[in-house]
Amino acid sequence: MAGCGHCLRASKRKWTNVVDLYQPQVGRAELPLLSICQAALERRKTAAQTHILILHDTMGEMAVSQAEDSDCTARVHTVEVCALDRIGHVDVLLALAMGFDHVLLQKLVAPETMAIQHQEVEMARAMGGNGRLDLFGSVHRLAEILQALPEITGPWRHDFPVVAASRRATARSCAAVLLPTALAPVPLPADAPYGTVQLDESACTMCQSCVWLCPTDALSIGEHKSELLFVESSCIQCGMCRSICPEDALQLMPRLDPLPRADARKVLHKAEPFHCTSCGEPFVAKSMMDRLLARIWGGRGVQASEEVLQLIALCSACQTQEIQEPQYRRQPSAVQFRSEARRRQ
Ligand code: SF4
Ligand code: SF4
Repeated sequence: MAGCGHCLRASKRKWTNVVDLYQPQVGRAELPLLSICQAALERRKTAAQTHILILHDTMGEMAVSQAEDSDCTARVHTVEVCALDRIGHVDVLLALAMGFDHVLLQKLVAPETMAIQHQEVEMARAMGGNGRLDLFGSVHRLAEILQALPEITGPWRHDFPVVAASRRATARSCAAVLLPTALAPVPLPADAPYGTVQLDESACTMCQSCVWLCPTDALSIGEHKSELLFVESSCIQCGMCRSICPEDALQLMPRLDPLPRADARKVLHKAEPFHCTSCGEPFVAKSMMDRLLARIWGGRGVQASEEVLQLIALCSACQTQEIQEPQYRRQPSAVQFRSEARRRQ
């Protein structure tokens, strides 16, 4: 750095905040750094100068105050956080998308929190924070990082992210702002709560077990119960669908697609529909019906009378009518189905 540094130090401005993450505050409970980031963005838009956010707890206070006196030309904003282990990738991404050029995070030392912090940091880097997020564990390391940071003199270059009601949606919005040229989904570390599922279509029988178990409705059933639908932005990669699938047809793939297409409900699998033997309406996947009938005719633990066999092949409306009106006239197709069932038995 050119010059003695004193003039630079004199022109440097610092802000300090204390954030209590356990204190519920309207509008800040979900995003405790939001108001700090909003204020930083206003400052950054008018000052073509590097803005740095340092997040630390009471243990790191001394280190931060010493490092602040280094000959760094940036504007440094220090925030003391009551529970540093609760600072996640969402908070970091919000800061990087709203007013801060760099985020420096105090390293946690307890083994049980260190691994979680490492995972959150890796996720934030993969979602657009790469090269703009560092961990520090000592005064020396913090001073080193501050000295090495590139000086930014241009205007703020990011669009304004959508601050959504949920942390998850806000993280996705920030990633879209931070990765404006990402046309393809970016891979994320294992166990990241964003991603897609890969389906082996030849193995899927449309049994719907995965749909019933999916906690976020990322999986759903489409038209005629013969389509398996999926919304990538809703998938939290919990793996429940994979564990319940009797055909081992699903695999998880952690990744982030920052484009709006991730919000679309796409067809994961389209199976041939089975038509109601009475009214002719498609109402279930043929593979599912074949499987059920194979179990009945194969005598594998499922037994059914002729009447039940006939009901199985009816859609719910026709089933209801059949049950309520015993004299309901059988359609020729229903008789055909019954004969076929008898023949196979
Ligand atoms: S991984 Fe979880 S959230 Fe994603 S589709 Fe499967 S069950 Fe649903
Ligand atoms: S993916 Fe597996 S659980 Fe889901 S419908 Fe297909 S076979 Fe059933």
